[in-house]
Amino acid sequence: MVDAFLLEHQINPLIYAIGGGLNPASIKDQMIRARMMVDKAYEAALIGPKRALLVIGLGAAGATASLHAAMLGVETILVEKRSNPFYLQRESTRELNPTAYDWPHTHWHEGIMPWGDTPRMPLVWAAGKANDIAAAWLSQLEEISRILPHLSIRMNQPVLVNNVCMNNKDGMLDIQISPEEIRPFGMLLACTGSGPECCEIGTYTGMQFWGSNTLQNDNLGTDNTPVQVAISGCGDGALQDYLHILTGNYAPECYSRLKDKMPLTVQPIFHTIEQAILSAETQAQAALKWSTTQQNDHKILNRLHNIHTRQVDILLENKVIIKRVKKLIVNRSIDIKLFHSCTHFTTCYPINRFLVILIERYLKKMEDKETIKPETKLISVVSADPENHKCKNNSNACYGKQHIIQYAQHVRCTEQNIPITEQTEANVIIIRHGITPSQNEFQTDDIRQILPLHIA
Ligand SMILES: Cc1cc2nc3c(=O)[nH]c(=O)nc-3n(C[C@H](O)[C@H](O)[C@H](O)COP(=O)(O)OP(=O)(O)OC[C@H]3O[C@@H](n4cnc5c(N)ncnc54)[C@H](O)[C@@H]3O)c2cc1C
Repeated sequence: MVDAFLLEHQINPLIYAIGGGLNPASIKDQMIRARMMVDKAYEAALIGPKRALLVIGLGAAGATASLHAAMLGVETILVEKRSNPFYLQRESTRELNPTAYDWPHTHWHEGIMPWGDTPRMPLVWAAGKANDIAAAWLSQLEEISRILPHLSIRMNQPVLVNNVCMNNKDGMLDIQISPEEIRPFGMLLACTGSGPECCEIGTYTGMQFWGSNTLQNDNLGTDNTPVQVAISGCGDGALQDYLHILTGNYAPECYSRLKDKMPLTVQPIFHTIEQAILSAETQAQAALKWSTTQQNDHKILNRLHNIHTRQVDILLENKVIIKRVKKLIVNRSIDIKLFHSCTHFTTCYPINRFLVILIERYLKKMEDKETIKPETKLISVVSADPENHKCKNNSNACYGKQHIIQYAQHVRCTEQNIPITEQTEANVIIIRHGITPSQNEFQTDDIRQILPLHIA
């Protein structure tokens, strides 16, 4: 029987990819994919004692795949085009948590990988700052690879599609892994990431998600008062920034502060809500997996958004909970607006969807503040003072400067109608428009998946 997991990631005979438009795609998801990929390739005898593996890309996925294959006794070469491993996380102070995105599954708060009774993973990690985690991964990688004779790691070595050729004589791939060296491999596994982030509108460029994290500084690291923030987007990047700016915290910490040590009388409310959300999210994931049109996606995501909103409204009927939500919001002086182009958020992790709707509904209901602008779309961002500042696709130069934003209203993800435009001003503009499809030929097409939480 053909293995469905292998088939889904196959881009050519013996060439497989777990980079590109895979969804979901958190670091934990990528590590699970990498480990599953190697296990399944080993079972299918694509790799083995006489069939070496070439892994491309030294991020979380490539490191996991290479270590796991080498531990199985497979001769493995890992090539990375950059001079540094884990390049996205190594400079970032963002908080990462391997299990937070599994909320409201019961293990979500464990914050470690592997957790509970899941099998060993090559890289072990716990919630913390991205740069510390990347440093810990690197020392584990160095330590384990020292005792693994089958693993060789080569930095500064890109491998492109032209470097690969099928050898029909013995059913292997001949791959040029350096200018001097061509070697046979049983399989190529591309772990080349999802491509560059899209943070631009015209000549305006916002800060990258994995760039320097100014959001944790006073006044978000600007000299301005008031700080006027505009965020464009409604995926995990945009929602995480909205939460972080208003609460000064990351989602797992926010949810713990909300729920921990609640009076016994209030705890059942959380239990009921978590069950309702788990059920709605599971249903939405399954429906999205088979949805192929924007119209259908819209219906699924809209229903999901409405269920979250109903659960949030139940929480906000309780006085004890209202007090907790009030305490969560620490940055009231910041004027923030999140622009998103439909009635619902896009595919994102449940904890981000839930907490953003909670904060937004609280601010609207209790403080009469509008912080989210649904059905809007940013059209242009230009300097408000062109004599002194011109946007030239330089995020550092634009950050903190006053800009004029033009946006369309009454936008829907399903319609292309002529928008009515409005304008506003902001000095911190964050564009979180996902990933620009990369030209890298080793990537998969957009694929929606439901990954196991526990690998067998
Ligand atoms: C806006 C945004 C927010 C995110 N937030 C979170 C979050 O809060 N938590 C979380 O868990 N995840 C988050 N993610 C997802 C996370 O960034 C990815 O899951 C993770 O970095 C993917 O790891 P990877 O190893 O697959 O790819 P990468 O980390 O991108 O590594 C790919 C490697 O391949 C190398 N490479 C590429 N092409 C070649 C080639 N031809 N030859 C040799 N080497 C090559 C690259 O140089 C790179 O080192 C976020 C992503 C985005 C875009």
